[in-house]
Amino acid sequence: MAVATMKALRKMRPERGAQLESVPIPTPGPTEVLVRVRAASICGTDLHIYGWDRWSASRIHPPMTFGHEFCGTVDKVGSEVTSVKPGDFVSAEMHVNCGHCRPCRMGQPHVCQNVKIIGIDKDGCFAEFVIIPIRNIWKIDPAIPEHYAAILDPLGNAVHTVLAGEIAARNVVVTGAGPIGLMAIAVARACGSAMIFATEVNPHRRELAKKMGADEALDPNQVDVVARVLEATDGAGVDVLLEMSGNPTAIHQGFQMLRPGGRASLLGIPKDPVTFDLVNDVIFKGATVQGIYGRKMFETWVQMTELLKHGRLNLEPLFKERLPLEQFADAFSLLESGEAGKILFYPNGSQK
Ligand code: NAD
Ligand code: ZN
Repeated sequence: MAVATMKALRKMRPERGAQLESVPIPTPGPTEVLVRVRAASICGTDLHIYGWDRWSASRIHPPMTFGHEFCGTVDKVGSEVTSVKPGDFVSAEMHVNCGHCRPCRMGQPHVCQNVKIIGIDKDGCFAEFVIIPIRNIWKIDPAIPEHYAAILDPLGNAVHTVLAGEIAARNVVVTGAGPIGLMAIAVARACGSAMIFATEVNPHRRELAKKMGADEALDPNQVDVVARVLEATDGAGVDVLLEMSGNPTAIHQGFQMLRPGGRASLLGIPKDPVTFDLVNDVIFKGATVQGIYGRKMFETWVQMTELLKHGRLNLEPLFKERLPLEQFADAFSLLESGEAGKILFYPNGSQK
């Protein structure tokens, strides 16, 4: 009998680019689920994998299918799976934790020491089908639209960061209004923040920051962003810094805007080690500094479901391009230009 095949966007060699390949449809193991991908979205990480930077060269082992932001329909379930059935609408936490390292045993699986990421360490969702372990499956509430369900992974990063401390009635700065910074603005707004400032070098993204609910979207190349935020907060500085750029200048400015006793939640990933004024920016300020990684399993998923199903988040300004998988080269060059929104792929062709 001929093996059933599917199309998949694969990194075939350790170099820039990717290829659309025909590969066998995988079979789920006893505790796995085969999901038919309805919509998948491109993350900045996929752009790194596509472009083949230093990080990709050290982490990715071609040939592999990439992509880790998606939603889809359960197609087949393994023999031990009872919590979902074919036809269910799902997404998934793509960080697969080991369950037995110390952080996992201490209730912190989001910082598992042996994490494997689907779409990075194993075949991902830029394909007609993807295999997901059952404990990583997240059933989607029917009130949540398909295009929102496709971006729960980065939305979860934003929700995790914003809700990592007090946020209601707090003045907030988001440094870096990329997709995740933009979502963080919407989440902070929905959760009752007072003033929200964004700093962003890209004019298109500054526009979006306003649409997502920022009071001021500041260009650090044009204005003294620290002086402006101090002025607007009567010299106090913001209560909360949400660092979402990974840019050393933005990180430095963010800490200068933070009030003594404030919270700095750092999600952005700098390329290189960053020099830091630990004495003035953290110690004398009595600042609380948190690293934020991934999404809490599964508290963040519950929180974002509640925000979405009750219509608290308007993420529409983020969406523009909806493309078939075949147009991957256009998608990646659009994303590289910095002008694209959250680009959605439809590997099975169906678009709503
Ligand atoms: P992105 O690269 O699209 O967004 C970063 C934004 O910062 C861009 O819009 C860029 O123009 C802006 N920026 C650059 N220099 C700036 C400056 N000096 N001042 C203000 N803004 C500046 O990335 P994204 O997908 O939105 O992700 C945000 C960050 O979070 C990235 O660094 C990403 O690597 C990181 N990330 C971390 C995790 C985690 O678990 N910790 C998960 C996903 C992404
Ligand atoms: Zn672990």
